[in-house]
Amino acid sequence: MSDSQSGAAIEALGGETRTFPPPADFQAQALVSDRSLYEEADADREAFWARQARELLTWRTDFDTVLEWELPHAKWFVGGSLNVSENCLDRHVQAGNGDKVAYHWEGEPGDTRTFTYAELLDEVSRFANVLKDLGVAKGDRVCLYMPMIPELPIAMLACARIGAPHSVVFGGFSSNALADRINDAEAKVLITADAGYRRGEPSTLKPAADVALADTSSIEHVVVVDRCGTDPEMTEGRDHWWHDLMADASTDCPAEAMDSEDLLYLLYTSGTTGMPKGIMHTTGGYLTQVAFTHKYVFDIHPDTDVYWCAADIGWVTGHSYIVYGPLTNGVTSVMYEGVPNHPGNDRLWDMVERYGVTKFYTAPTAIRTFMKWGRQEVDRHDLSSLRVLGTVGEPINPEAWIWYHEVIGAERCPIVDTWWQTETGGMMIAPLPGVTTTRPGTATHALPGISAELVDDEGNPVAEGGGYLTITEPWPSMLRGIWGDEQRYVDTYWSRFEGRYFAGDGAKIDPDGYLWVLGRVDDVMNVSGHRLSTTEIESALVSHPSVAEAAVVGATDPTTGQIPIAYVIVRGDVEVTDDLGEVLRQHVAQEIGPIAKPRTVVLVPELPKTRSGKIMRRLLRDVAEGRDLGDTTTLADAGVVDEIKTRAQGGGDE
Ligand code: ATP
Ligand code: MG
Repeated sequence: MSDSQSGAAIEALGGETRTFPPPADFQAQALVSDRSLYEEADADREAFWARQARELLTWRTDFDTVLEWELPHAKWFVGGSLNVSENCLDRHVQAGNGDKVAYHWEGEPGDTRTFTYAELLDEVSRFANVLKDLGVAKGDRVCLYMPMIPELPIAMLACARIGAPHSVVFGGFSSNALADRINDAEAKVLITADAGYRRGEPSTLKPAADVALADTSSIEHVVVVDRCGTDPEMTEGRDHWWHDLMADASTDCPAEAMDSEDLLYLLYTSGTTGMPKGIMHTTGGYLTQVAFTHKYVFDIHPDTDVYWCAADIGWVTGHSYIVYGPLTNGVTSVMYEGVPNHPGNDRLWDMVERYGVTKFYTAPTAIRTFMKWGRQEVDRHDLSSLRVLGTVGEPINPEAWIWYHEVIGAERCPIVDTWWQTETGGMMIAPLPGVTTTRPGTATHALPGISAELVDDEGNPVAEGGGYLTITEPWPSMLRGIWGDEQRYVDTYWSRFEGRYFAGDGAKIDPDGYLWVLGRVDDVMNVSGHRLSTTEIESALVSHPSVAEAAVVGATDPTTGQIPIAYVIVRGDVEVTDDLGEVLRQHVAQEIGPIAKPRTVVLVPELPKTRSGKIMRRLLRDVAEGRDLGDTTTLADAGVVDEIKTRAQGGGDE
């Protein structure tokens, strides 16, 4: 490695070279197995999206203009009208598929409920009538603070049916977070539950909702699902039981015709980078891209697939790929309430086997956890139904990718590593499983109709090497703004590089044109003038057989500017020797170069993570530099940081 100062946004050090072409038998049955979609989109991007919009969706009124683009404001499918719940439900029933299962739902205690498309339509229509009776009209915001129970997608679709934008607040969030989001959206109705099951116990929601409601003034009614029988306090006149209101609601509720650009929902970003922002998603463009990406990235065959996205609906992944994409495509899905280790560490694999899941979508953090638990948990089950495996949420370390490929996919299932964001609404960079030769750790290439480009500090395109990941053309499911804060929308996403959407992520492009997302640019560290990606050093650590998970941050150093500090979780079956820290430092030096060698390796039992499972490096930086901790409100388990502080002060394992 040269010592020259680098002007690049990020330097690429990793050298992963393993390649995985689509298996021949997979390719033979795939929806696409050639470059035709890419070629079509390259020839005429707008015509390509217009075809998808008309093929994948049912419109009340056809659109007359595909795209109106006045940077940074896009309108897609202008003049068109449609209803999202009609696309997700009515048209499948009308086509004779009413008896097909929409959701196989399973509660954590093992109770199950099955909804066919016809049953789901009835429930959605009834709840839409309930909302109307509570005074909810088109344009009113409805807040949903719920566990992973069927009433959550039912409530979302009921909102969509009457044109009331929903704002789903993840059930693990505190009353403060809920109050902020209710107030920002000025929501009129709150839907919640007494509790939901987590780790074998009811985890209550209604008491937190009551605390939040003391700080809000816009909510007129609260609807409460009785999930766990915990007998919460109910405020007379304001709070209503879901089952009481549903008892006499009619199943007849015509869907509103919505403009293609009407607001479908608000979703607040998880807040690992500051104050939550109400990301706005609209109707026609959003549904088009979500349906397109779900269908082609998972190679969906609605007649035979059983699809399972194991995310929480509280995140955008659940909105787009548990609710709107799968239902628009008329597929059968599995939905699960609880944690993956109840009653045992094999809960998910047991469910894959029982439901015959064919397409499975999860996050790298979950995969690393499964690795830590060991393959014996998986090997007890027959997973031969699986055909495509997906990941989203963070860069996936190549070793975790290989483990997913070998242990879960039995080397038979293409892996689709999908890069996208709350703001992008749908997948942006991902393989097509019948077309793309994959490599562990890269989301590969922009999807058809999407234009991604890396640029350097000055905004000049980077053809090879590290850079900032930008999007150069508007896309159908792009955010339309930040609720109530137009200027913040422009400043946050459109100001860093002229004419480009800047996603906040650093990436590299390799000589073969593969895009490797290397994480947030805030996480990049500067070591002797080299801008190093924490992700690559973490992946080097995870490639050592003793390591289950690793987080790397840059600490201030008087000579080098910054220096890497590593926090490492060792695998369950590894015996920790005194020299393990030194062994791991040498391993990093060997894998990617001496400059990346951590100064200290701290062995820890857990890492601080957001509630969506992402490592909070910001907190680890504070620990590394002995600062007071910043905001920890989105941290999943606050005790973890204290434990790490204690270990770090003990000198780690230098
Ligand atoms: P916030 O924006 O509130 O701080 P967040 O960025 O974690 O939180 P999301 O919108 O859920 O919220 O996550 C998008 C981010 O997740 C991306 O910007 C990227 O950093 C990361 N990411 C998602 N998928 C991938 C992937 N396949 N590979 C690499 N990184 C990914
Ligand atoms: Mg983000």
